Amino acid sequence: MKHVLYGKCVKCGKTYAAAPDLTTCECGGILDITYDYDYIKSTLTKDTLAARRNNSMWRYRELLPVEPDTPDPPLRVGWSPLYEAENLARQLGVGKLWVKDDGLNPTASLKDRASAMAVAKAREAGAKVIACSSTGNAASSLAGNAAAAGLKTYIFVPSRAPKGKVAQLMTFGATVISVQGSYEDTFELSKQAIDRWGWYNRNAAINPYLSEGKKTVALEIMEQLNWQVPDYIAISVGDGCTIAGLWKGLKDLHAIGFIDRLPRLISAQAEGCCPLNRAIETGEPWRPMEENTLADSIAVGVPRNADKALMAIRESNGLTVNVSDEEIMAAQKLLGRTCGVFGEPAGVTGTAGVKKLCEQGRLGEHDTVVSVVTGNGLKDVANAIKACGEPISIPADMHLLLDAFAQRGIRVEQ
Ligand SMILES: *Cc1c(COP(=O)(O)O)cnc(C)c1O
Ligand SMILES: [Zn+2]
Repeated sequence: MKHVLYGKCVKCGKTYAAAPDLTTCECGGILDITYDYDYIKSTLTKDTLAARRNNSMWRYRELLPVEPDTPDPPLRVGWSPLYEAENLARQLGVGKLWVKDDGLNPTASLKDRASAMAVAKAREAGAKVIACSSTGNAASSLAGNAAAAGLKTYIFVPSRAPKGKVAQLMTFGATVISVQGSYEDTFELSKQAIDRWGWYNRNAAINPYLSEGKKTVALEIMEQLNWQVPDYIAISVGDGCTIAGLWKGLKDLHAIGFIDRLPRLISAQAEGCCPLNRAIETGEPWRPMEENTLADSIAVGVPRNADKALMAIRESNGLTVNVSDEEIMAAQKLLGRTCGVFGEPAGVTGTAGVKKLCEQGRLGEHDTVVSVVTGNGLKDVANAIKACGEPISIPADMHLLLDAFAQRGIRVEQ
């Protein structure tokens, strides 16, 4: 890989050759894949990109840490739509708002970007088996992307993982271990099993290539905005790998001169589980928290990518915002009703954060904002029904329909 220099420890600065099975530094720090931007500048222009027909995350190969002869993994990941949400922007009182619907990926979450990268790197490493622990989406996306590439998967999820995600895992043929414990317990067991059997490791906090996959969401947002930089990009945060990837993508584009400034990040967490935002707000080191939120994908009490995430928020002069489960459910309803976008609770937490920042007057008419919806609502229909209610249920009888409308005070439009 001519365009990749090495993996560099974010803690101690030690560098490692970019082998496909790279993990963490000997000091325990997470590695960051470092590029030769001068070389990339000589191989990639905005025009060559614009002419490209590959509408997937792999259109950005010059910025991705894969060998030139590694095939694109089979599933079409990325190039999700970026909608301008005019009605929602007006309702919230923000200047401009775009919604990036990453729930439209093949297994219905942003995690597909990391899992596709894991599959590409596992193939380079000659691995036949990949494993991970996950709150749910990393698992289901790994299972799907690996199945398509003919790789076996061992997956560890906490027993609280919603049914939709578990159904995906079983459909994609993973060996699934549902751990009766927290996400932290799940992570530890997966680590021991991976060490024991030598599987390819798709844990985002350990494998430095995964945030390189996730960064493609930033590359797409900027290309879709025709390189016009928004003031803010809002995203939900659990382990922190996603927001770190988002920031990495933006910095890459800045380094090769595709954008002339950097947006500020908005880190949205659940009030009941916000260890990273609390660290930013108090200026103290992060401390573990209970995993107390219905947004299961970001219920991460011990964030595994804390260093990279905190750095991203601070470097971007970012905002933090913590939302309650009620605010998450309200955002789910609002996105559905104003944009036709159906997000899972963690998927809409960024939008809930934008709404709250508007209400607090920290965002307003002068600001332009992108909100990333990170996962699809069909993964967790129980919580969607909780947020949005039950339908009118009657036997097939016109009189009962009229009664039902009358009882509920529904004035029927024609
Ligand atoms: C994983 C996930 C996140 C957060 O990503 P982290 O890398 O854990 O911070 C947010 N939303 C959804 C839907 C996710 O699956
Ligand atoms: Zn180190």
